[in-house]
Amino acid sequence: MSPVLQLLQTKFGYDSFRHDQETIVNTVLNQKDVVAVMPTGGGKSLCYQLPALIFPGLTVVISPLIALMKDQVDALRLMGIPAAFLNSTLSTDERRRVFDQLRNNELKLLYVAPERLLGANGEFLDFLQTLNISLFAIDEAHCISHWGHDFRPEYRLLSELKNFFPTAPTIALTATADDITRRDIIEKLHLKNPEIFVASFNRPNIHYFVEPKRNLTARLANYLDNHKDDSGIIYTLSRASAENLANNLDLQGFSVRPYHAGLSPETRRANQELFIKDEIKIIVATIAFGMGINKSNVRFVIHVDLPKNIESYYQETGRAGRDGLKSDALLFYGAGDVMKLKKFIQIENNPEQNTVLLKKLNQMMAYGESRECRRKLLLNYFGETAPNACASCDSCLTEVERFDGTLIAQKALSAVARLEGQYGLHYVADFLRGSKSEKMKEEHRALKTYGAGADIPKELWLRYLKDLVGLGCLRVGGVEYPVLKLTEKSVPVLQGKETVMLIKTAVRASSAPLPEGGHRGEGEHIPHEPELFTNLKLIRTNLARAENVPPYLIFSDATILELATYLPMTLTDIRKISGFGDLKTSKYGQPFVSAIITYCNNHNLQTKISLKIPKRERKVK
Ligand code: ADP
Ligand code: ZN
Repeated sequence: MSPVLQLLQTKFGYDSFRHDQETIVNTVLNQKDVVAVMPTGGGKSLCYQLPALIFPGLTVVISPLIALMKDQVDALRLMGIPAAFLNSTLSTDERRRVFDQLRNNELKLLYVAPERLLGANGEFLDFLQTLNISLFAIDEAHCISHWGHDFRPEYRLLSELKNFFPTAPTIALTATADDITRRDIIEKLHLKNPEIFVASFNRPNIHYFVEPKRNLTARLANYLDNHKDDSGIIYTLSRASAENLANNLDLQGFSVRPYHAGLSPETRRANQELFIKDEIKIIVATIAFGMGINKSNVRFVIHVDLPKNIESYYQETGRAGRDGLKSDALLFYGAGDVMKLKKFIQIENNPEQNTVLLKKLNQMMAYGESRECRRKLLLNYFGETAPNACASCDSCLTEVERFDGTLIAQKALSAVARLEGQYGLHYVADFLRGSKSEKMKEEHRALKTYGAGADIPKELWLRYLKDLVGLGCLRVGGVEYPVLKLTEKSVPVLQGKETVMLIKTAVRASSAPLPEGGHRGEGEHIPHEPELFTNLKLIRTNLARAENVPPYLIFSDATILELATYLPMTLTDIRKISGFGDLKTSKYGQPFVSAIITYCNNHNLQTKISLKIPKRERKVK
């Protein structure tokens, strides 16, 4: 077995690599610079943590978020990997201890903020140069680029790193996909012929749903009732609505706290801590929440207000399901939100910027309105191709009957063409119906397409027009108000070269099925024991309290789910569960084994560990 794989199993307790992890690790081990682009939860940390264990010297990890440093270091220590961080939260004594450890070559990983590394007249840099540094890992590397969504001036200092450490390889990691940012990272960090790895942005375990924003309170309560044991984030647009909704849900008996910029830093910190430690289930937050969160067992992310653009939506929903288990992204969509956001945009008086912001908002609106696969819309937005149906979004889960709507599409498209792309949804529908309303301009009444669709009711026209936007045959443009415009896909339809399959209305009535509760990992088909799952989570919580770390750092929900599925009854068998490395098995294995034995005795169950497909034989100590 390769030493890399062996370490993956003994230290991290994982069976196999994800995505390009193995190639990335080997490339780093060959001392090459690397840029790794992977979505949140893709497993970026392992790409430098594993090499760090093999390299003789120290791996310095540069990270912008102080809160996450502690989280990462705690996670490593729980696996028996010597790591530390240096930042303003440490006491003088603690700091001195870290320096001692560094001098004695006792650490494998050191986490620091960029200003700490390169600031203070280079004192710390001088110190680092006396050490043996094997690797630099730049986390959230997009922070160095103006093009990224989170530029941080202190990251610019990192441009000098290569001057001071010309021989140590650098791995830059980010979840920001676009090409300009990527090139900027390479240039600003002075990476030498880096190998670039870009993973797919698909998050298969996140299921996407859109619900109409009507009877919001009842619908939301209904969803939460079905997910009583799950952790989740609810995003709102304003502090006031975060506060109100949190109160409202609290009165209904949900375990919930608010998080927004109007709260004192102490309250915010306390609420975040409660959430991370599973002491409360739900956080109702404005977008101020989430950056410093690594919690892997977030089972749902709900937006009760429309996000401003698809990037934000993808990023916020991406906080769900880092552990790889099924999670929901639920958007409550109402056209009223679009109007509200447009007003906000127009207040900031910058026409050039407004055009861009409106375009992005229109794309977000199209996501809410569409009846095509939501996942496909998201992935296409990021320039990735995707299959037409994912089987795990509300569109794909709604049974629809389609019909050949080419003629209808042609009428709609020629109406838009005749109106020269200057009119909105309602006007186009009225025009097609030959409306006698005084709003209908005189010159339009004379056009050929006027009244060409009088046989179809207006409601249905609105639906078809929206569907044509969803199919890409039309797009929403316009600055002051939204107007329908042709796209390049319109041409073959108008020329009769392409068939358009439209959805028969009335199939998806007012309520699409709400996402179901329950957990299921990818490719996991053996049922688990729900009651045991709950018991084991309690054991985990108690262990976490004793260690003063969040439960998900002890074991992820994915690990607990495997336990409740395969029912290992010995320490040898529990070693086969993903997440049980050497140290965690010896430290925490026994209480889980005991609980499983008791449960199985009471319920007359046998272990199912033989059903766990042994990906590779593991050595048991
Ligand atoms: P990212 O930094 O890309 O958001 P992380 O490095 O935090 O992702 O990894 C997300 C989760 O997946 C963590 O809980 C991590 O332990 C787990 N993980 C990473 N690689 C593997 C693997 N090969 N097998 C199983 N779990 C993994
Ligand atoms: Zn889908």
